[in-house]
Amino acid sequence: MMELEQIIIEKLYSLNTCKFCIKRLLAANDESIQEKIDTYVESYGKNHVKRYKASPCKSCLDIYSYLDEIAKRIAEMITKNNLDNYRLVIKVPYAIIMRNKSFSVFLNEKYPEYYKDKIILQPYKPLYFLIMNNLLKTYKIKYRFLSNVRIHINFEYSDDKKEYSKLVKEDIGAKNFKKKIQMTGSSIIKKYVGVPPDTPTVPAILRNIELIIQKYYIGGRYLKFDKNFSQGIGERSITNLFKNVMSKVFGITSSDIKIYFCGSDGLGYRVLGTGRPFCVTLCNLRKKPDDNSLEIVAELLNQTSSYKVSSLSYVSPNDLLDLKDKGVSCTRTFRYICKIQCAEKLGKAIQQISMLDKDGFFINQKTPLGVIRQRTQGVRTKKILHVDASTVQDYPDLIDISLIVECGTYTEEFIHGDLGRTKPNIRDIIGCEISILSKDLLSIAPDFPPLVSNDKDEMSDDEFFEEVDFDIHSFGYSVKDDTGDLNVYTGEVKDEKDFVE
Ligand SMILES: [Zn+2]
Repeated sequence: MMELEQIIIEKLYSLNTCKFCIKRLLAANDESIQEKIDTYVESYGKNHVKRYKASPCKSCLDIYSYLDEIAKRIAEMITKNNLDNYRLVIKVPYAIIMRNKSFSVFLNEKYPEYYKDKIILQPYKPLYFLIMNNLLKTYKIKYRFLSNVRIHINFEYSDDKKEYSKLVKEDIGAKNFKKKIQMTGSSIIKKYVGVPPDTPTVPAILRNIELIIQKYYIGGRYLKFDKNFSQGIGERSITNLFKNVMSKVFGITSSDIKIYFCGSDGLGYRVLGTGRPFCVTLCNLRKKPDDNSLEIVAELLNQTSSYKVSSLSYVSPNDLLDLKDKGVSCTRTFRYICKIQCAEKLGKAIQQISMLDKDGFFINQKTPLGVIRQRTQGVRTKKILHVDASTVQDYPDLIDISLIVECGTYTEEFIHGDLGRTKPNIRDIIGCEISILSKDLLSIAPDFPPLVSNDKDEMSDDEFFEEVDFDIHSFGYSVKDDTGDLNVYTGEVKDEKDFVE
């Protein structure tokens, strides 16, 4: 080992940094040197230095002192909850990021030759690997990168705001803070933070370790062929069937399944064409679903001729929000077969309907009698975007009406008039009693679920490491969700040199 490294080690010890930080701040990128450094740091620490317990590590604020406790608690958490995969997110105080920058400025100026091609890692990075190593060695727990179960390790530092407000006036979010610190020049750091940083009066403490189980979202569309099949109520309903099948396939209870439909269809009409979009939210899922789980769901659901589910795919929470947004603004296309009382007027009725404004027109609907108990009374104005009529072959008293309407329009009421509560209406326009024989929903406009690419090539570990990214709200590793097959890290975690700052 070079003499310079010994000098730096001694210097860092005198600055009251912990042995983990000393190793990290040395930024050795050669394994053989790393070992010698480890040995020297340990022995020097034992023989020459009495660290003052009362003053925490100037760099990491003592977060490394929780290493064993964290591993123990995570191991318990994993056993207790019977988790077979998880991923870690470490949240550290901003002050630690700031102090690390201060040390970086200090070391680069004092030992420019040594540091000219070295990168000092943030304290949470080695901590992450040390925890994983400890779990593997002590508890034989392997680490899986891709999981819907996240374990958040949250540190707290009571002087955090006091320190970070020297540079940043308000909480700008972890990601922005880190970026800002990276871009801040050494003169500013010297002026406002101090190089090397002050001795902290209190350490950072481990606030808690949280288990966060992410939700999964499944998008799709359904067609309904059986008029007596309900969307939401009773045994014979889409909701009931979805819950039965998905709770079986995903191993969760039906109360963990929430379903959002883009609009509702009651008894009495079919859903045809491209079908009605829906999104199912799965909560409390302990395992990442198997690759073929959606195929199994589709197979189990489609064992009937009453309805058909299609286009099942995993979607993001934003897609669900998007669907809810679009759901209230998109249009619907319906087709009605109606019987008119005065068959001799059929030809004229078709003519009258086809003369209606092709650019669309507005109707006023008083709360329909059918829903008068459920909805607040009022008059709603809705747009009929398109209406057309034609004859039905061999049935001289039947009329085929197609409608494109704004979401929320009561279309049946537009046809029969609802005792004059909807105006104008088809009954008044043709001047003849009209009754509905069948009603089909042909399409709902939004493109949902969005198309996803099926590139699921397996990634090598190296590629995977590059996928590791910062969680928006935390300093720590988190992993992008849509990276395909499960990557399991089974080997011993070596060190942090694979990471580039
Ligand atoms: Zn430290």
